Amino acid sequence: MIEGASGPWEVVIGLEIHAQVISRAKLFSGASTAFGAQPNTQVSFVDAAMPGMLPVINEACVAQAVRTGLGLRAAINLRSVFDRKNYFYPDLPAGYQISQYGQPIVSRGEVVIDLAGGVARRVGITRLHLEQDAGKSLHDQHPELSYVDLNRAGVALMEIVSEPDLRSAEEAGAYVRKLRTILRYLGTCDGNMQEGSLRVDANVSLRRLGAPFGTRCEIKNVNSIRFLQQAIDYEAGRQRDVLEGGGRVVQETLLFDPGEGVTRSMRSKEEAHDYRYFPDPDLLPLELDPQWVEDIRRGLPELPDEKKARFVADYGLSAYDAGVLVAERETADFFEAVARGRDAKLVANWVTGDLFGALNKAGRDIATSPVNTARLGQLIDRIADQTISGRIAKEVFEAMVETGADADAIIIERGLRQITDAGAIEDAIAAVLAANHDKVQEYRAGKDKLFGFFVGQVMKATQGKANPKLVNEMLRGALSG
Ligand code: ADP
Ligand code: MG
Repeated sequence: MIEGASGPWEVVIGLEIHAQVISRAKLFSGASTAFGAQPNTQVSFVDAAMPGMLPVINEACVAQAVRTGLGLRAAINLRSVFDRKNYFYPDLPAGYQISQYGQPIVSRGEVVIDLAGGVARRVGITRLHLEQDAGKSLHDQHPELSYVDLNRAGVALMEIVSEPDLRSAEEAGAYVRKLRTILRYLGTCDGNMQEGSLRVDANVSLRRLGAPFGTRCEIKNVNSIRFLQQAIDYEAGRQRDVLEGGGRVVQETLLFDPGEGVTRSMRSKEEAHDYRYFPDPDLLPLELDPQWVEDIRRGLPELPDEKKARFVADYGLSAYDAGVLVAERETADFFEAVARGRDAKLVANWVTGDLFGALNKAGRDIATSPVNTARLGQLIDRIADQTISGRIAKEVFEAMVETGADADAIIIERGLRQITDAGAIEDAIAAVLAANHDKVQEYRAGKDKLFGFFVGQVMKATQGKANPKLVNEMLRGALSG
């Protein structure tokens, strides 16, 4: 909702996402898709639209689209059709893009998004279709000329279209994050927005609650979640001002300028009929064998929603912790490797707390974590077997990150072994009580709050190594006596 002078407006958002398919070769040619190569070194005659060249569909790309559809709990259409979408652009040598229009390979799916406060909401997926990417015009290589790089031309994209089910910039961000997580679990798109593997178009409109949908504008090609949210918020505010001023929103295509934080008109909205879609005569309709689809379904990995539910049920984690742990498959695997046979909640706290903190600080991800699963497990075992307290464990962990040594080596080398010897703790308590005679009197006279002071003094006297539970028990005894 967004406030206006005449009352609140509901923000309505639908997203179209272009996700680059993970595949070694392009959708209709054998040219490589590797990122970062010299311009025009990965271009087949098909990609360059040389006369007489014919497209041949890449089965691996089709399998990726089906896998993604299944991961989105969508309907897989056993018959789909490739169409030509006709338009001129210097980086589109054929003068058309091969896409799917009337009969896409996937329709009607869903993504469950996780919102603040543990709220989950279902967002409908209208369709997913396969299409070719275009090349890239380079305008910054020469003062008067533009260049064209066709390496990307013909690379397979999945266009994933959502229903207009999103209601705020936050929800749009949560949707993109969740979709990206699912694609990464499936191994169908790497989700790297900086490299352009995942690009978002946001359709935004306003309406009064319960009224029909308003006219939308489409913000093209946003390449970060932060920019997406800024763009939606700006655009909702702009449309509100237009409507509150008695004007009408004109349907158009916009670009977001991150520097200024504003959306700008790019062109008036084109209509589907402008593209003169027609079935590509060089390609037969795509017919899938139901058994082939079934085999892909059986090969699907456990997906984030299921993993999260299992973490809650099997490990007793909160929905929040489970959600954080499953956001990346590598993190979930790391957690499970450590949690096996250990206190899972404790492990979850260590992974999402200290380990994430250390990774953040070092700018690393879990795959290159300075503390591996075996070592974190050993540290947690030393807390469980009372060799060290939870507090000292934090110190040991920091030393593990710094030095690369394991927990046992650090505990021995730094003499951090917990004091569980009752005699030693008794001596420390006696010394503390003797040195603080006045406070002992006050405590016995009813000033209960002083208990923490005595605990602190005993811990200090033992360099933090005394077993805290023993200290508590024995102090109570000594003070009441
Ligand atoms: P096009 O291909 O011309 O952009 P579509 O009908 O395929 O049009 O819709 C594209 C996207 O726009 C979808 O994600 C859909 O959810 C969204 N959308 C449709 N109507 C609205 C609306 N009134 N407000 C916001 N989003 C909308
Ligand atoms: Mg569109």
